[in-house]
Amino acid sequence: MKVAIVTGAGSGIGYATSIKLASKGYTVVMGDISKDVVDKAEKVASLTKSRTLGLTVDVSDWNSCKEFYENILKGLNIDHVDILVNNAGIIRDALFVKMTPEQWDQVIKVHLYGTFNCTKQVIDGMIKQKWGRIINMSSASWQGNIGQANYSAAKAGIIGFTKTLARELGKYGITVNAIVPGFIDTPMTASVPDKVKKIIIDRIPLGKMGTPEDVANVISFLCSDEASYLTGDIIDVTGGLVL
Ligand code: NAD
Repeated sequence: MKVAIVTGAGSGIGYATSIKLASKGYTVVMGDISKDVVDKAEKVASLTKSRTLGLTVDVSDWNSCKEFYENILKGLNIDHVDILVNNAGIIRDALFVKMTPEQWDQVIKVHLYGTFNCTKQVIDGMIKQKWGRIINMSSASWQGNIGQANYSAAKAGIIGFTKTLARELGKYGITVNAIVPGFIDTPMTASVPDKVKKIIIDRIPLGKMGTPEDVANVISFLCSDEASYLTGDIIDVTGGLVL
């Protein structure tokens, strides 16, 4: 059975994706900077009766990603991974005039370096297999969002990265797509004040926030054989959000 890595798997969309893929029979490696991911992986394994591995990783750090990947190959006794979901993420919001270099760096490092670092680990194995699925997490904020110059820049960068890799890697049977979630009910959006939540929900034709499972379902589709002719695609999961 195919092996899938999900980063940022300890919470929100990553956790829901891990459950979804594990329930579909994939062996799921759940990576997260939070140590809780080890317990979370045990929970997913017992919920889905599947083989699941939980490992800590800081996706923003090259050496951590290298060690993470080596531990996966050793731990599962495999020589490649089939699917990578680059999902780990943070926000450090501030209006640009107040944004610090640290806030800029942290967000760029987790999203852009993180996506680069993890993809570099898996790519040689996928090329050898002539099969692979890479799913990157962008955001509706890629079009610009007040207070999120760092996050919007990173999420727009992920779209360029996705489209370029799709062109470079198609000949190896590897598809590369990005998901653009809108306003999803996870710990990342929990601190949005109710007044602001209402303003955003008013712009969503389906009239509600998305659930982590709404996004996980689309990720699961992109991993499947049914999605084998999709690459370089940017898929909105926004309930129709109008920015
Ligand atoms: P979340 O905060 O619930 O989960 C993010 C996870 O990433 C956490 O478990 C966290 O520990 C992990 N993480 C953070 N930094 C890490 C690092 N350096 N290395 C490894 N793991 C790290 O957030 P979520 O809402 O589930 O977001 C998942 C992805 O979806 C993110 O990329 C986010 O930007 C994107 N997204 C979310 C929304 C939304 O509305 N929730 C909208 C658009 C895009």
